[in-house]
Amino acid sequence: MTAGVIACDPAEQQSPRWVTERGQRAVFCGLTSIVWLHRKIQDAFFLVVGSRTCAHLVQSAAGVMIFAEPRFATAVLQDRDLAGMADCHEELDRVVAEVLARRPNLKTLFLVGSCPSEVIKLDLDNAAARLRRQHKGSLRVVAYSGSGIETTFTQGEDSCLSALAHELPSSNVDQLLVVGTLADVIEDQFTRLFNAMGIANVAYFPGRQSEALPEVGAGTRVLLAQQYLGDTARVLTDRGCTLLEAPYPLGAEGTEAWVRAAAAAFDIDDTAVEMAVAAPKARAEKALRALRPELDGRTISFLPDSQLEVPLARFLQRECGMQPLEVATPFYDGRTLAGEQAWLPDGVNWFEGQDLDPALDRLRASRPDLTVCGLGIANPLEAEGLRTKWSIELVFSPIQGFDQAADLAELFARPLRREQQLEVGAWS
Ligand code: SF4
Repeated sequence: MTAGVIACDPAEQQSPRWVTERGQRAVFCGLTSIVWLHRKIQDAFFLVVGSRTCAHLVQSAAGVMIFAEPRFATAVLQDRDLAGMADCHEELDRVVAEVLARRPNLKTLFLVGSCPSEVIKLDLDNAAARLRRQHKGSLRVVAYSGSGIETTFTQGEDSCLSALAHELPSSNVDQLLVVGTLADVIEDQFTRLFNAMGIANVAYFPGRQSEALPEVGAGTRVLLAQQYLGDTARVLTDRGCTLLEAPYPLGAEGTEAWVRAAAAAFDIDDTAVEMAVAAPKARAEKALRALRPELDGRTISFLPDSQLEVPLARFLQRECGMQPLEVATPFYDGRTLAGEQAWLPDGVNWFEGQDLDPALDRLRASRPDLTVCGLGIANPLEAEGLRTKWSIELVFSPIQGFDQAADLAELFARPLRREQQLEVGAWS
């Protein structure tokens, strides 16, 4: 959706093996994250304040998944708004009143900023405060930006959760807080696992209902489920929470290390952890062994898109035998990637940021068996005989945890298998 220069803090660069690139890029904007956030937070409504382009993006990204009345919409800024000739706040109030008339039981309304609302400097924080006053506390209104300027699409979740994190009630109660959107089925699996280990008080952020926000404070140990939540982690640590350092729960090895980080923070003894993880870990390893022959020795490159690139490359190399050639991620956050550092595979070219043309030139020269990239460049690469995997699919799919380890490997095996089944050797 956007082309531009990605901002980053070079001070966060911790490892000399990372090369920073700045230039043209091809990524979706943060509005895309509404697709999975609105599925997770079931009593919230996402109102994008943007243009027709924004409306088309959200509608087409989410369209395939809507089976009921959607809980998102776009308040479209018209020419008169953009020219400063209309009072956008009056119009916003009118649209919000319409939404509430249709959904009187709505508990949380997210006002989602966009490029156009930022260009005309529409103050959505003030609008949220005004709407809250109007609705006398019966409606939580939270503003955040999903703008495509200098962001990538998973940052929409970080922006949403960091805004909501300020709203969490305070408490010093001892608890584990898992942060990052997880499919409900995975949330249930992790709860069972943590409970079996002896961690009884487990909360999730975001949860399924926005009314039941977790309490946070000095007793809260935060375990990130996705590494693209650096701003949210900063808000939570500012509120007294402790951020646990761990690899991400992708694959059997990653999941085990992730739950072990929580166990260590709660002084759970090793025997209890072993007993809790033994069966799901054995199942995951067995299922992965069955898929490994299809992936072993195959080469893979990642163009920067989802911010899942680093733990995915680690999983594919260590547990599936794939050889990552180049791994690029839109942003390198040394804090949220600290737990992955020891496992970064050798012999890989690591890039932070994007300069699309040189990246494509390197890809054409190395011709990996599989390239993980954004939707916009997958088709042209396929036309050049390069097999691709859409990175956005990895964000929409339930991939975390022991029981999903083989499903995750299968997502990479499938395009390689399809190529063989089609017998299109000449094509590639
Ligand atoms: Fe395009 Fe910006 Fe709207 Fe995203 S927020 S759809 S990048 S105009």
